[in-house]
Amino acid sequence: MKEDATTDNGMVQAETLKPLQKVLDRAMDLPSPPAIAVKVLDAVKDDQESFRALAQVISSDPALTAKMLKVANSSIYGLARRVDSIEMALTVLGSKALKNIALSFVIVGEFQNACQGSFDFTKFWKGSITSAVAAEMYSSMLGEKSDDTFVSALLQNIGYLVMFLTQPKKFFQLMSQGDGPRSEDLKVEKKIFGYDHQEFGAALLKSWGLPETIYMPILSHHVPEQSQENFHKSASILFISHQLSLVYQGFNPGEKARLVQKLLNEKYQFPAEKAEKLIDSIAEKASEILITFEMGDETIKPYSQLLQEANQDLGNLNLSYEQLILDLKSAKDEAENLAANLIKANQSLRNLVFRDGLTGLFNHRYFQEMLEMEMDRSNRHSHFLSLIFFDIDYFKKINDCHGHLAGDHLLKSLAARVTKIIRSSDILARYGGEEFAVIMPETDSSGLRVFAERVRRGIEQMNVELEGRTVQVTVSIGGTTMGPDLFVNDKRLLIQAADQAVYQSKNQGRNKFTFLPLEDFC
Ligand code: GH3
Ligand code: MG
Ligand code: MG
Repeated sequence: MKEDATTDNGMVQAETLKPLQKVLDRAMDLPSPPAIAVKVLDAVKDDQESFRALAQVISSDPALTAKMLKVANSSIYGLARRVDSIEMALTVLGSKALKNIALSFVIVGEFQNACQGSFDFTKFWKGSITSAVAAEMYSSMLGEKSDDTFVSALLQNIGYLVMFLTQPKKFFQLMSQGDGPRSEDLKVEKKIFGYDHQEFGAALLKSWGLPETIYMPILSHHVPEQSQENFHKSASILFISHQLSLVYQGFNPGEKARLVQKLLNEKYQFPAEKAEKLIDSIAEKASEILITFEMGDETIKPYSQLLQEANQDLGNLNLSYEQLILDLKSAKDEAENLAANLIKANQSLRNLVFRDGLTGLFNHRYFQEMLEMEMDRSNRHSHFLSLIFFDIDYFKKINDCHGHLAGDHLLKSLAARVTKIIRSSDILARYGGEEFAVIMPETDSSGLRVFAERVRRGIEQMNVELEGRTVQVTVSIGGTTMGPDLFVNDKRLLIQAADQAVYQSKNQGRNKFTFLPLEDFC
């Protein structure tokens, strides 16, 4: 026996199915041709009688009649008038088309009863019905529709059911090889069963007496180019119909749609939009037909809707991503505000702790800390460090003449004036009452003298408005310097020297600067 159903010239021939047919005839688990199907087939053999006989056969089964009328009235035939009797359906659709619709129902119903257990029957027929609708629509677009298109496409994969029913173990072995019945790897099928599902299906339908216009396209629906000349087109239609139906099976409809669009474009120069319209209307029409086959009340979402939903999901995802970014940004802004407020709060806390409330200069406490720190730094780096004190001359008088508030005002003006004179590295502090101090890092005694003179003169030249009168004040300044030749660790020595120097300036007539060497206090 030859390995496949091809002849020597590579054509698929019905003759080669004979041995397989004999096997199937003896298979006890296969449904025999349903009695009503036999009657349907017999009824149309005799052309003369066919019309009346077929109407009679169908009408004898009320459930079948109802289903047939539903299909006849479905959008797949797009009839202008409502068909409400089998006779009318016969007139409008013709006996051959009606016969095929009847056969579809009868065969699907028969297998539905036979296939119990682990086979996902609904999934299988849903795919088959979608293929049948796709074949019907696609072939009418090409102008190649025949009465057998629907039933032939519907039954194209019936070979899998034959495999499942006759050799279930091998069938599950096959399923575990690929990704389900859709893998359709003909070589693997042949290896496991000796025949592929095209041959199983065609052999069964042939033995049931179905015409070759139905089973021959099935015999080569995966390799249409190998089919006999007269079945070439119908086999191609089955092939494309299956590819179209795959859009609605399993995952990734977008990818499958692109593949079939490419195929249609390459083979038949179908523009992409035309293919997309076809794919969409397949879902609509298949949903209608599925109901008549009682395949649950699930509908098939059109491809464009699937895409739209996928895009919407993507949009929602983007939206929530954007929201997330906004939330993060506002959280970041809030954190930054908090941090800025914290810095401000810390700053004002520092000001409270280290600044003098009246003049805004560093206070006594800060002065003490900074003096210690700067003495330490000078010691480590062998730098000079100078310190001056200055005290307002006769300040008591100001208070006495102009009042305490005027005295306060003068203190503030003086602080502002000296702030402008000092360098940024100098530390100006209010030591107490009307006494001020300046710590001058890296400044020797000559630098100190220059600076002290600038302060003295700067204050002397300052005019302060008090109660409408211009007032002038002077200060008595005293200073000392610590340097590489003499370092001390005790800040009290420096303070003492500077303070003493102020005292001397006062004694020598005020508005003066006195320098006292540190060594006199060690
Ligand atoms: P001398 O030239 O000897 O320094 O004379 P003086 O009047 O400046 O010195 P004295 O120590 O006798 O007086 C200092 C005055 O400074 C006494 C006090 O009322 C005043 N004073 C101290 N702190 C403040 C202050 O914060 N505001 C005001 N308005 N006056 C103050
Ligand atoms: Mg004073
Ligand atoms: Mg004083």
